[in-house]
Amino acid sequence: MAKSKQTTGNLSIDSDNIFPIIKKWLYSDRDIFIREVISNACDAVTKLRKLSLIGEFEAPEDLKYRIDVIASPKDKTLTFIDNGIGMTADEVNEYINQIAFSGASDFLAKYKDKASDDQIIGHFGLGFYSTFMAADKVTINTLSYQEGAEPVFWECDGGTEYTMSKGDRTTHGTEITLYLNEDSYEFANEYRVKEVLEKYCSFMPEEIYFTNADAAKEKADEEPEEKPINDTTPLWTKHPNDCTDEEYREFYRKVFLDFKEPLFWIHLNMDYPFNLKGILYFPKFNSEYDTLEGKIKLYNNQVFIADNIKEVIPEFLLLLKGVIDCPDLPLNVSRSALQNDGFVNKISDYITKKVADKLTGMFKTERETYESYWDDLSPFIKFGCLKDDKFDEKMKDAILYKDINGKYLNLSEYRKI
Ligand code: ADP
Repeated sequence: MAKSKQTTGNLSIDSDNIFPIIKKWLYSDRDIFIREVISNACDAVTKLRKLSLIGEFEAPEDLKYRIDVIASPKDKTLTFIDNGIGMTADEVNEYINQIAFSGASDFLAKYKDKASDDQIIGHFGLGFYSTFMAADKVTINTLSYQEGAEPVFWECDGGTEYTMSKGDRTTHGTEITLYLNEDSYEFANEYRVKEVLEKYCSFMPEEIYFTNADAAKEKADEEPEEKPINDTTPLWTKHPNDCTDEEYREFYRKVFLDFKEPLFWIHLNMDYPFNLKGILYFPKFNSEYDTLEGKIKLYNNQVFIADNIKEVIPEFLLLLKGVIDCPDLPLNVSRSALQNDGFVNKISDYITKKVADKLTGMFKTERETYESYWDDLSPFIKFGCLKDDKFDEKMKDAILYKDINGKYLNLSEYRKI
């Protein structure tokens, strides 16, 4: 393919079929495209960071890796810029034109006849092409980090045709601009975009900056605020030995906006046989006005996926509050497939075991503390025992009963009196 002149082509999946499906997602998770584009940008930056570490890329000393999200309410555009690896024309062809989700045809075959939204895996993205949920036209301006690479400009209006020509980027990285469709102008609004960024990107691993282009133009002489919207090293990514109690409490307040102190927490940190990190907090349950409603946020490599996914987290654990990051989760399959996945069951068993170990450990070695928490813990433990036989088996000696003097005893102690 001649790189310097414009080429047009047809997208190599049956776009007449895929776009209506993508647009259908508008009704479930309209904002998910932002997560998809930014996680691609993060990957691109992380890849270049790694190439530089192994000496494959000579990074200028003052290079600060970053991702910019720029909204223009006036132009009704949303732009994402990263200074990552970028793409050559061949790569745009391979990764974008031939549509990277190789499962596209499987996906279509599976979901074409299942019209209801919840059968389409609303929470799991479809990559770059999800941008067409919100945009009439999308452009990519990219320059590969490779020496002598030519910039590439790509444009597609959501139909079956794209055009490719020489781009004008002079530094490595990728700039993706969405020309929002009429139903999606909200995504040029500063507060709406910030809300979505907070939901999906708060803990992504590369720095993300937001700018309102129109407001920035008006106060061009002022220094722009240079603070990333995300925390690139959230507490769960650190080793438990390096975290202080105050850090755990602060993280809890920040993530769950709960200003009551949690009772205690478990830091999950596992590399083998699968990768899983996370923090589970036991909130105070005892107030009669509180609902027993927890929240477990699931992440995949620091990218937020969804709250309270029943297929991964056992139901009774959803009474807790916490974050779980599992990079190995097979997220490109449907939720019903997740439910039948042996690997997912292992994850779920591991989490249950860790919780039971923590509680029984406390019962054995810190009996007084355990008793002082009992009134808060008991609804959760009893519900867990009803729901999960393995949990019941482990916990049965640590279930307490109050005698007439208010003393806490377990069943075998009770029998002895
Ligand atoms: P996925 O991310 O699941 O592979 P996508 O459709 O989102 O699928 O992206 C396809 C591919 O396009 C990516 O794997 C990557 O190689 C390339 N790509 C997308 N966005 C960027 C970017 N900002 N910088 C560099 N490459 C990108």
